[in-house]
Amino acid sequence: MLASQTTQWLRELVQIPSVNPGGASRLDPQIHGESRVTDWLESWARTRGIRSYRQPVASGRDNLIMEVQGRGENHRTQLWEVHQDTVDVAGMTVEPFGARIQDGRLYGRGACDVKGSMAAMLGALAEIHQYSGPVSDRIILACTVDEEHTFLGVQALRAHSPGRIWISPENTCRPDFAIVAEPSSLGIIEAHKGVIRWHIRVHGTACHSSTPDLGSNAIYTAAEIAKAIEKLQIRLRESSKDHLGGGSICLTQISGGSAPNIVPHECVLLIDRRIGFTETPEEAEQQLQAVLDGLGFPSGIQCQLSQPIIRCPALRSNGNGPAIRSLGTAIRKTTGQCEVRSVAFGTDASTIAEHGIPAVVFGPGDIAQAHTKDEWIDLRELETAARILFLLATESSSSGLETEA
Ligand SMILES: [Zn+2]
Repeated sequence: MLASQTTQWLRELVQIPSVNPGGASRLDPQIHGESRVTDWLESWARTRGIRSYRQPVASGRDNLIMEVQGRGENHRTQLWEVHQDTVDVAGMTVEPFGARIQDGRLYGRGACDVKGSMAAMLGALAEIHQYSGPVSDRIILACTVDEEHTFLGVQALRAHSPGRIWISPENTCRPDFAIVAEPSSLGIIEAHKGVIRWHIRVHGTACHSSTPDLGSNAIYTAAEIAKAIEKLQIRLRESSKDHLGGGSICLTQISGGSAPNIVPHECVLLIDRRIGFTETPEEAEQQLQAVLDGLGFPSGIQCQLSQPIIRCPALRSNGNGPAIRSLGTAIRKTTGQCEVRSVAFGTDASTIAEHGIPAVVFGPGDIAQAHTKDEWIDLRELETAARILFLLATESSSSGLETEA
């Protein structure tokens, strides 16, 4: 595998802005959206004769799926998933799209999260495509949109029947396992927390603030809800034995009131709920609804819990043994060691696992460098990741090392 090639692809990918448009107060067509990266990926695949399909997800936002056929008997199907979008570039101290290389590091938005992994996957895929050995796995590389906001891309990837994913307008397939790209310092992330967010809307009755008793003040009720959520967090903390794996809840934004002399008729709270390893998003929702129902609001006040604005389940370690064994073997063969751990941040892996496909997280780079003002990746890790993925597709399946008992 030519190291210079993967580095060059990473340079090009970082130079192409693909900032997630979600949450932006003003859209800048020069930097927002994934479509430029999608076009680049499509032409990359076409140049190499690798089959690719576009899956429309939202207006101007497509997943790009590449497929390399397997060889030999008993080859497996692996899903490699990597997101095309990055977080915003505000406040960065390095040129976000400069892709400057210095002292073995490449700097820029997305270098670490997660275009470095994307370049490594492309490097391995190009190699597998040309490989003439006896066995290599079928690889589906899914480059998805919207991981940094509402997970639309990975949700669209799931076909109707459990365990199957969309790969073309005519076809779905059932991967044996999935490798989801995020910076893991070349270790394996086997479990992580999930997240669900809602708005709580409190509706009251406006009137002149000189006669407040004639109205119903939505902010007073919102304050009661805020205290109840703080108490719920204390309960969650006390009931959780595992600090990392436990759920938590936090009121993160609040807005209400329209003028200094009007009793506020509306107040909106944003609730961020992290889903512990033993919880589901649905259980968390029922729990919050029960807290709201228990408050008993004054007359003239109504309170509504919205549909989730974000929903990502927790990734649990049970069920992903085959993926861990295969990937672990490839990592150890390449680097001499392999760390398997759990983390707090969420990824697309849990949405894939919830659909019935064993999934783990793997990639070059340290998560501590993701989303930072001087984001960078160590280019040697990029090459190592590409070698590990190549091995995972070509050796594990024939070596028998990952054979299930
Ligand atoms: Zn990421």
